[in-house]
Amino acid sequence: MNNNQINTLQSLLASPKKIAIIPHRNPDGDALGSTLGLYHFLLKLNHEPIVIAPNDFPDFLAWMPASDKIVVYENNKATTTELLKECELIFTLDFNALHRTGEMENVLKTLTAPFVMIDHHQMPDDFATITYSDTSFGSTCQMIYNTICFLNKKELIDITIATCLYTGILTDSGSFRFPKTTGDVHRIVAEFIDLGVKNTEIPTLLFDNNSYDRLQLLGRALQNMKVIPEHKTSYISLSQKELYEFHYVKGDTEGIVNYGLTIKGIVFAAIFIENKDEGIVKISFRSQGDFDVNEFARTHFSGGGHINAAGGKSMDTLANTITRFEELVANINI
Ligand code: 5GP
Ligand code: MN
Repeated sequence: MNNNQINTLQSLLASPKKIAIIPHRNPDGDALGSTLGLYHFLLKLNHEPIVIAPNDFPDFLAWMPASDKIVVYENNKATTTELLKECELIFTLDFNALHRTGEMENVLKTLTAPFVMIDHHQMPDDFATITYSDTSFGSTCQMIYNTICFLNKKELIDITIATCLYTGILTDSGSFRFPKTTGDVHRIVAEFIDLGVKNTEIPTLLFDNNSYDRLQLLGRALQNMKVIPEHKTSYISLSQKELYEFHYVKGDTEGIVNYGLTIKGIVFAAIFIENKDEGIVKISFRSQGDFDVNEFARTHFSGGGHINAAGGKSMDTLANTITRFEELVANINI
């Protein structure tokens, strides 16, 4: 954040306000960690914050402090729209284009309150009064930590705020393995651990929350995996029928795409998940090294994200989507 932006943010926060904090649709650990971390911080500054999520969050995040206070737009559109209209300031966290909130975009576009975007994805849209966008950070949670420091309020970071921010730093860094895991990341996390953050228990809450059905679904996904060794690519598909068979609940497919990259020599992995309710195939892409999946997702599958992790969707059938993917892969040099 530059000095102008810090000054503007300081004056926006100078008197108590009703503030909406918004994560992207299908919020992950970083989206919820950053929104809840900022929520607890703004409470300490005597504001009246409210986290409004476009849709529900997965069960493995339901332990997060104040997750029970999150208002879900899709569960009550009329009331949430009124709440949004009352807010005097809007933070949008962990996304950089309003369409990432789904249908909620139509409401957000009508609001007159100033927007503050804090995000680490590539190619931000220009909708905010303050755009703090930086792809060099591995998580939005790290940028919330920076924002608190820019405001000279680091002493307000307590175990609750730190727990939220730790969660997003952990999940978006692939448990401290991805390339943006710098010394700074470890130094920030060290401060959080000194504050009492339960760094050995949180990964259990996040990653060892499996149901038997979820593991069976994972087994099926791994059996469905196809490998295209000549293009260093692997992909997984899951049909709606298979999701029903294993009593799919939100969050069950989280992280499965990463298995594709664990095969020796594979640098590009995808997962195709059929969603008949929404009439789409939801796709996740992962890569290792220089192959830019943000670019690939944007160009071919109406999506986006980061260089090594992105997502998109297809309106076509699952079979046609996969055929198209195979044709694309056959024609790129990976
Ligand atoms: P995931 O595959 O875990 O859902 O998402 C990987 C990354 O890509 C995340 O940073 C996520 O925000 C982004 N992403 C996922 N789906 C989409 C999409 O449909 N559009 C855009 N622009 N980004 C996406
Ligand atoms: Mn993120």
